Amino acid sequence: QSNMFEAERKIDAETLDGKRITVQLNAGLNSSDDADISEETDGIGLYRSEIAFMLTKTFPPEDLQYAWYCALLEKFKNDPVCIRTLDIGSDKCLPYLPINEINPALGWRGIRISLDEPHILHTQLRALVRAQAKYKNLEIMIPMVSSLDEVEKVKNEFAAVCAEVQSELKVEFTPPRFGMMIEVPSVVYMLDEYAPLVDFFSVGSNDLIQYLLAVDRSNPKVGRFYDFFHPSVVRCLKYLVDKSRDLDKPLSICGELAGMPLGAMMLLSLGYDRLSMNYSEIAKVKFIIRRVSAKELASLCDKAIKMSHADEIHALYENYAKEHG
Ligand code: PEP
Ligand code: MG
Repeated sequence: QSNMFEAERKIDAETLDGKRITVQLNAGLNSSDDADISEETDGIGLYRSEIAFMLTKTFPPEDLQYAWYCALLEKFKNDPVCIRTLDIGSDKCLPYLPINEINPALGWRGIRISLDEPHILHTQLRALVRAQAKYKNLEIMIPMVSSLDEVEKVKNEFAAVCAEVQSELKVEFTPPRFGMMIEVPSVVYMLDEYAPLVDFFSVGSNDLIQYLLAVDRSNPKVGRFYDFFHPSVVRCLKYLVDKSRDLDKPLSICGELAGMPLGAMMLLSLGYDRLSMNYSEIAKVKFIIRRVSAKELASLCDKAIKMSHADEIHALYENYAKEHG
């Protein structure tokens, strides 16, 4: 069966009724070093920069980071590459920045750390902006935003770094597009205020579901409560698509959900058209997209958002999947 997916690896993802879906790569770990991997994706939707930080013995200096980012931008030079600023804390730790907390998922993590340790943010932004000046296909996004002033502060720093690099290099360049992740429920209800500050939103459904349902994403004991068909999750995801469309802000999604067959189908049905996932899921999800109808899926969405039980919603999408082979 995997051969079946293989054959269409490099073909763009378009539904039966002609809706083009952007399928991007979540990178950061090994990122299969095949030279032609860029032909299989529409760029990188999420580069988890903390993974490279986890492999060094001390904070990576600016020039080392610059070399990492340049290599990535070079490899995907015809497509956008979205690099997320350091997202440590919670389940990801750096040996040279020990964090001991009883409740790390609700603790010091993501953009909170970058703002409390300004040298981390400054160094990373400088390396990123310098790479953009050379390659022009960079996007930056920030993780774990939970309040407006965090975005305002990062944007000020970002503007200062762009000006700094500009005056050093003495060449004009377009600053990277700047986006934020939606992974904390408090953000969902303030998109009107966030929208003017960013170029795009990206839903981090792994964390969004964890915080929406109060279920630790990495605790198997409560794994059964971590359900992306939960009506609250489905309605929240639907709200995000509708709202970002009203605000005219591009919205993508980069949680694991986007790379799961039924998850991807549900997202298409809610109206998502930009999905980012691990390399191992790309061929399969593109295969599925090419065999479903966006119109039919949209009509399932009308039913799903009225359902009150996760089981019913799950069955709705599973039946559609069965009917379409
Ligand atoms: C997410 O939370 O969905 C996400 C993509 O970020 P991470 O899994 O790295 O927390
Ligand atoms: Mg996350």
